[in-house]
Amino acid sequence: MDLKDRLDGFFEERRIFLHAVLPLSDCIVTDAALLEKEAPGARTAILYVLPYLTGRTEEHNISLYAQSGDYHLLIRKTNGELADFLQSLLPGASFAGFGDRSPFDERRTFASAGLGVLGDNGLLITKRYGSFAFLGEVITDADPALLGAAGTSSPAGCLHCGACKSACPTHFEDCASGYSQKKGELTGKEKEAVLKTGLVWGCDLCQTVCPLNRNAEASPLPFFYEDRVAVLTKARLDAMSRKELRARAFGWRGRQPLLRNLALFEDAKKEEKKV
Ligand code: SF4
Ligand code: SF4
Repeated sequence: MDLKDRLDGFFEERRIFLHAVLPLSDCIVTDAALLEKEAPGARTAILYVLPYLTGRTEEHNISLYAQSGDYHLLIRKTNGELADFLQSLLPGASFAGFGDRSPFDERRTFASAGLGVLGDNGLLITKRYGSFAFLGEVITDADPALLGAAGTSSPAGCLHCGACKSACPTHFEDCASGYSQKKGELTGKEKEAVLKTGLVWGCDLCQTVCPLNRNAEASPLPFFYEDRVAVLTKARLDAMSRKELRARAFGWRGRQPLLRNLALFEDAKKEEKKV
Protein backbone atom coordinates (compact mmCIF):
# COMPACT_ATOMS: atom_id res chain seq x y z
CA MET A 1 0.00 0.00 0.00
CA ASP A 2 1.48 3.38 -0.96
CA LEU A 3 1.45 6.50 1.17
CA LYS A 4 -1.53 7.98 -0.63
CA ASP A 5 -3.64 4.90 0.15
CA ARG A 6 -2.52 4.98 3.77
CA LEU A 7 -3.48 8.64 3.98
CA ASP A 8 -6.88 7.92 2.41
CA GLY A 9 -7.32 5.17 5.01
CA PHE A 10 -6.50 7.60 7.84
CA PHE A 11 -9.27 9.95 6.74
CA GLU A 12 -11.72 7.16 5.96
CA GLU A 13 -11.34 5.74 9.48
CA ARG A 14 -12.29 9.13 10.90
CA ARG A 15 -15.18 9.55 8.48
CA ILE A 16 -13.53 12.57 6.88
CA PHE A 17 -14.54 12.16 3.27
CA LEU A 18 -13.39 15.46 1.74
CA HIS A 19 -9.64 15.93 1.69
CA ALA A 20 -6.83 16.70 -0.74
CA VAL A 21 -3.06 17.06 -0.98
CA LEU A 22 -1.60 20.13 -2.69
CA PRO A 23 1.98 21.11 -3.45
CA LEU A 24 2.78 24.30 -1.55
CA SER A 25 3.30 26.12 -4.86
CA ASP A 26 -0.47 25.71 -5.51
CA CYS A 27 -1.54 27.04 -2.09
CA ILE A 28 -2.43 30.70 -1.68
CA VAL A 29 -0.08 31.90 1.03
CA THR A 30 -1.24 35.03 2.85
CA ASP A 31 1.01 34.88 5.92
CA ALA A 32 4.52 33.95 4.81
CA ALA A 33 6.00 34.83 8.22
CA LEU A 34 3.66 32.36 10.00
CA LEU A 35 4.44 29.69 7.41
CA GLU A 36 8.19 30.20 7.83
CA LYS A 37 7.93 30.20 11.63
CA GLU A 38 5.71 27.13 12.03
CA ALA A 39 6.55 25.10 8.93
CA PRO A 40 10.01 26.00 7.61
CA GLY A 41 10.87 24.28 4.35
CA ALA A 42 7.18 23.50 3.68
CA ARG A 43 6.48 21.70 0.41
CA THR A 44 3.07 20.10 0.82
CA ALA A 45 -0.32 20.84 2.36
CA ILE A 46 -2.82 18.18 3.39
CA LEU A 47 -6.27 19.77 3.48
CA TYR A 48 -9.43 18.36 5.02
CA VAL A 49 -13.03 19.37 5.61
CA LEU A 50 -15.00 18.85 8.85
CA PRO A 51 -18.73 19.27 8.17
CA TYR A 52 -20.83 20.36 11.14
CA LEU A 53 -24.47 20.36 10.05
CA THR A 54 -26.47 17.83 12.06
CA GLY A 55 -29.62 18.02 9.97
CA ARG A 56 -31.66 18.73 13.11
CA THR A 57 -34.26 21.41 12.73
CA GLU A 58 -34.57 22.15 16.41
CA GLU A 59 -35.38 25.64 17.64
CA HIS A 60 -32.15 27.55 18.23
CA ASN A 61 -30.70 30.94 19.01
CA ILE A 62 -27.05 29.96 18.56
CA SER A 63 -25.54 29.86 15.09
CA LEU A 64 -25.36 26.37 13.59
CA TYR A 65 -21.56 26.28 13.69
CA ALA A 66 -21.37 27.02 17.42
CA GLN A 67 -23.92 24.61 18.89
CA SER A 68 -21.47 21.77 19.54
CA GLY A 69 -18.23 21.96 21.52
CA ASP A 70 -15.58 24.32 20.20
CA TYR A 71 -14.54 23.03 16.77
CA HIS A 72 -10.97 24.17 17.38
CA LEU A 73 -10.65 21.18 19.73
CA LEU A 74 -11.54 18.76 16.93
CA ILE A 75 -9.19 20.46 14.46
CA ARG A 76 -6.37 20.34 17.00
CA LYS A 77 -7.02 16.64 17.70
CA THR A 78 -7.24 15.74 14.00
CA ASN A 79 -4.08 17.70 13.19
CA GLY A 80 -2.21 16.00 16.03
CA GLU A 81 -3.30 12.52 14.95
CA LEU A 82 -2.53 13.23 11.31
CA ALA A 83 0.94 14.55 12.11
CA ASP A 84 1.69 11.52 14.33
CA PHE A 85 0.41 9.13 11.69
CA LEU A 86 2.51 10.68 8.93
CA GLN A 87 5.53 10.97 11.19
CA SER A 88 5.46 7.21 11.70
CA LEU A 89 5.57 6.74 7.92
CA LEU A 90 8.01 9.57 7.18
CA PRO A 91 10.30 9.75 10.24
CA GLY A 92 12.54 12.45 8.77
CA ALA A 93 9.75 14.88 7.88
CA SER A 94 8.29 17.76 9.93
CA PHE A 95 4.63 18.63 10.33
CA ALA A 96 2.63 21.66 11.50
CA GLY A 97 -1.14 21.82 11.88
CA PHE A 98 -3.41 24.80 11.25
CA GLY A 99 -7.08 25.68 11.24
CA ASP A 100 -8.70 29.11 11.27
CA ARG A 101 -5.38 30.83 11.94
CA SER A 102 -3.62 29.62 8.84
CA PRO A 103 -0.78 30.87 6.63
CA PHE A 104 -3.13 30.32 3.67
CA ASP A 105 -6.21 31.95 2.29
CA GLU A 106 -7.97 28.74 3.27
CA ARG A 107 -11.10 29.19 1.21
CA ARG A 108 -9.31 29.92 -2.05
CA THR A 109 -6.73 27.21 -1.42
CA PHE A 110 -9.42 24.60 -0.72
CA ALA A 111 -11.31 25.73 -3.82
CA SER A 112 -8.11 25.37 -5.88
CA ALA A 113 -7.81 21.83 -4.58
CA GLY A 114 -11.27 21.11 -6.02
CA LEU A 115 -12.92 20.71 -2.60
CA GLY A 116 -15.59 23.33 -3.28
CA VAL A 117 -16.45 26.65 -4.90
CA LEU A 118 -16.21 30.19 -3.61
CA GLY A 119 -19.54 31.76 -2.76
CA ASP A 120 -20.40 35.45 -3.14
CA ASN A 121 -21.06 35.25 0.61
CA GLY A 122 -17.31 34.83 1.06
CA LEU A 123 -17.58 31.18 2.11
CA LEU A 124 -16.26 27.97 0.67
CA ILE A 125 -19.20 25.89 -0.49
CA THR A 126 -17.91 22.35 -0.29
CA LYS A 127 -19.02 19.58 -2.61
CA ARG A 128 -21.04 17.45 -0.21
CA TYR A 129 -21.63 19.56 2.83
CA GLY A 130 -22.21 23.03 1.43
CA SER A 131 -20.70 25.87 3.41
CA PHE A 132 -21.45 24.23 6.77
CA ALA A 133 -17.90 23.04 7.28
CA PHE A 134 -14.68 23.82 9.09
CA LEU A 135 -11.33 23.60 7.37
CA GLY A 136 -8.09 22.17 8.71
CA GLU A 137 -4.67 21.53 7.27
CA VAL A 138 -1.31 19.97 8.04
CA ILE A 139 1.74 21.34 6.28
CA THR A 140 4.90 19.32 5.83
CA ASP A 141 8.33 19.47 4.22
CA ALA A 142 7.71 16.02 2.71
CA ASP A 143 7.65 15.63 -1.07
CA PRO A 144 4.12 16.30 -2.42
CA ALA A 145 4.45 13.48 -4.95
CA LEU A 146 5.00 10.99 -2.10
CA LEU A 147 1.64 11.89 -0.61
CA GLY A 148 -0.17 11.76 -3.95
CA ALA A 149 -0.63 15.50 -4.54
CA ALA A 150 -3.13 16.18 -7.31
CA GLY A 151 -3.18 19.07 -9.78
CA THR A 152 -5.30 22.13 -9.08
CA SER A 153 -8.43 23.21 -10.87
CA SER A 154 -9.37 26.88 -11.39
CA PRO A 155 -11.61 27.95 -8.55
CA ALA A 156 -15.16 27.99 -9.87
CA GLY A 157 -17.68 30.55 -8.67
CA CYS A 158 -21.13 30.15 -7.25
CA LEU A 159 -24.42 30.85 -9.04
CA HIS A 160 -24.23 34.60 -8.30
CA CYS A 161 -27.96 34.49 -7.63
CA GLY A 162 -27.81 37.30 -5.06
CA ALA A 163 -29.92 35.46 -2.47
CA CYS A 164 -27.20 35.72 0.18
CA LYS A 165 -26.79 39.46 -0.21
CA SER A 166 -30.55 40.06 -0.15
CA ALA A 167 -30.89 38.02 3.05
CA CYS A 168 -27.98 39.72 4.78
CA PRO A 169 -29.06 42.25 7.45
CA THR A 170 -26.29 44.62 6.30
CA HIS A 171 -26.35 43.71 2.59
CA PHE A 172 -22.72 42.70 2.96
CA GLU A 173 -21.63 46.13 4.13
CA ASP A 174 -20.57 44.52 7.36
CA CYS A 175 -21.42 41.35 9.29
CA ALA A 176 -23.99 41.02 12.06
CA SER A 177 -22.23 37.90 13.26
CA GLY A 178 -19.28 40.15 14.09
CA TYR A 179 -21.59 42.55 15.92
CA SER A 180 -22.97 39.72 18.02
CA GLN A 181 -19.43 38.83 19.10
CA LYS A 182 -18.30 42.38 19.89
CA LYS A 183 -17.70 43.37 23.47
CA GLY A 184 -19.31 46.48 24.96
CA GLU A 185 -22.43 48.30 23.85
CA LEU A 186 -23.87 48.02 20.34
CA THR A 187 -24.97 50.99 18.28
CA GLY A 188 -28.61 51.23 17.19
CA LYS A 189 -27.69 49.98 13.71
CA GLU A 190 -25.78 47.04 15.13
CA LYS A 191 -28.63 46.09 17.46
CA GLU A 192 -31.08 46.15 14.57
CA ALA A 193 -28.84 43.89 12.49
CA VAL A 194 -28.35 41.38 15.35
CA LEU A 195 -32.12 41.25 15.90
CA LYS A 196 -32.60 40.42 12.22
CA THR A 197 -30.34 37.37 12.55
CA GLY A 198 -32.68 35.91 15.18
CA LEU A 199 -29.61 34.62 17.04
CA VAL A 200 -27.77 35.66 20.18
CA TRP A 201 -24.52 34.40 18.65
CA GLY A 202 -23.52 34.45 14.99
CA CYS A 203 -25.65 34.60 11.87
CA ASP A 204 -26.59 31.89 9.37
CA LEU A 205 -28.72 33.84 6.93
CA CYS A 206 -26.33 33.98 3.96
CA GLN A 207 -25.85 30.23 4.29
CA THR A 208 -29.39 29.07 4.88
CA VAL A 209 -30.74 30.89 1.80
CA CYS A 210 -27.99 29.67 -0.53
CA PRO A 211 -29.37 27.23 -3.14
CA LEU A 212 -26.03 25.42 -3.19
CA ASN A 213 -26.61 24.51 0.45
CA ARG A 214 -30.04 23.00 -0.21
CA ASN A 215 -28.78 19.43 -0.37
CA ALA A 216 -25.96 19.77 2.14
CA GLU A 217 -25.36 16.39 3.77
CA ALA A 218 -25.40 15.97 7.52
CA SER A 219 -22.04 15.56 9.21
CA PRO A 220 -20.80 12.01 9.73
CA LEU A 221 -18.69 13.22 12.69
CA PRO A 222 -19.99 12.31 16.20
CA PHE A 223 -18.31 15.41 17.71
CA PHE A 224 -21.00 17.67 16.27
CA TYR A 225 -23.86 15.64 17.79
CA GLU A 226 -22.53 15.62 21.34
CA ASP A 227 -22.92 18.13 24.14
CA ARG A 228 -24.93 20.59 22.10
CA VAL A 229 -26.36 23.94 23.17
CA ALA A 230 -28.82 25.07 20.51
CA VAL A 231 -30.83 27.41 22.72
CA LEU A 232 -28.96 29.60 25.16
CA THR A 233 -30.97 31.18 27.97
CA LYS A 234 -29.74 33.45 30.72
CA ALA A 235 -30.29 30.63 33.21
CA ARG A 236 -28.24 28.21 31.08
CA LEU A 237 -25.47 30.76 30.70
CA ASP A 238 -25.43 31.58 34.42
CA ALA A 239 -25.08 27.86 35.19
CA MET A 240 -21.99 27.50 32.98
CA SER A 241 -18.59 27.75 34.63
CA ARG A 242 -15.93 29.92 33.06
CA LYS A 243 -14.14 26.75 31.89
CA GLU A 244 -17.31 25.32 30.30
CA LEU A 245 -17.96 28.58 28.51
CA ARG A 246 -14.41 28.74 27.16
CA ALA A 247 -14.87 25.27 25.66
CA ARG A 248 -17.70 26.52 23.42
CA ALA A 249 -17.29 28.36 20.15
CA PHE A 250 -19.76 30.97 21.45
CA GLY A 251 -17.79 31.48 24.67
CA TRP A 252 -14.48 32.88 23.50
CA ARG A 253 -15.51 36.49 24.10
CA GLY A 254 -16.72 35.76 27.62
CA ARG A 255 -20.17 36.26 29.10
CA GLN A 256 -20.81 39.93 28.43
CA PRO A 257 -21.68 39.86 24.70
CA LEU A 258 -24.03 36.91 25.28
CA LEU A 259 -25.79 38.57 28.22
CA ARG A 260 -26.13 41.78 26.23
CA ASN A 261 -27.57 39.95 23.21
CA LEU A 262 -29.98 37.92 25.36
CA ALA A 263 -31.19 41.17 26.94
CA LEU A 264 -31.56 42.71 23.48
CA PHE A 265 -33.91 39.95 22.36
CA GLU A 266 -35.75 40.04 25.66
CA ASP A 267 -36.36 43.80 25.29
CA ALA A 268 -37.49 43.35 21.69
CA LYS A 269 -40.00 40.71 22.81
CA LYS A 270 -41.40 43.06 25.47
CA GLU A 271 -41.72 45.85 22.90
CA GLU A 272 -43.56 43.50 20.54
CA LYS A 273 -46.07 42.62 23.27
CA LYS A 274 -46.80 46.30 23.87
CA VAL A 275 -47.76 46.88 20.20
S1 SF4 B 1 -23.30 35.97 8.36
FE1 SF4 B 1 -25.22 37.20 8.31
S2 SF4 B 1 -24.59 39.32 8.61
FE2 SF4 B 1 -22.75 38.14 8.08
S3 SF4 B 1 -22.53 38.37 5.87
FE3 SF4 B 1 -23.76 36.49 6.22
S4 SF4 B 1 -25.90 37.16 6.21
FE4 SF4 B 1 -24.62 38.99 6.42
S1 SF4 C 1 -26.75 32.50 -2.35
FE1 SF4 C 1 -26.33 32.54 -4.55
S2 SF4 C 1 -24.82 34.19 -4.78
FE2 SF4 C 1 -24.85 33.64 -2.63
S3 SF4 C 1 -23.21 32.12 -2.37
FE3 SF4 C 1 -25.11 31.00 -2.74
S4 SF4 C 1 -25.16 30.66 -4.94
FE4 SF4 C 1 -23.67 32.27 -4.56
